[in-house]
Amino acid sequence: MSTARTTVQEIEMEPVEYSHLPPPPPYAVTDPIRSPVITQPVPVVHQTIIVQQLFRDKPVLVNCPSCHKRNPTTIKYVNSKKTHLIAGCICGLTFWCLLCCLAVIPYMMRSLKAADHYCSNCNYYLGTYSKL
Ligand SMILES: [Zn+2]
Repeated sequence: MSTARTTVQEIEMEPVEYSHLPPPPPYAVTDPIRSPVITQPVPVVHQTIIVQQLFRDKPVLVNCPSCHKRNPTTIKYVNSKKTHLIAGCICGLTFWCLLCCLAVIPYMMRSLKAADHYCSNCNYYLGTYSKL
């Protein structure tokens, strides 16, 4: 029992020097491999999806994104690339018999043109419908 007391006394008698020990690492430094993954909250984005009615070759009712009114569209028929392509094909096929003047037919038919839809209130361009 006396030996245990002497060892306790020896341990207590030794001077403890902390100056040779490296300072503890600061708390701000974290190991990216061992540190837990901290995820930041993802901001919730609310999207408003406006389902527009598909355009046709006739006026349709739409909610105009410009003037915010619901009204029928105004249609302007315009020549598209497909109109020119069909006219070119007709001209190419009828060139040998001098009937290439038939190539004007696609330019006179509404069904072979693209229909641009505009707002009837503010004339805002809404979309194009092309059958071909
Ligand atoms: Zn409008």
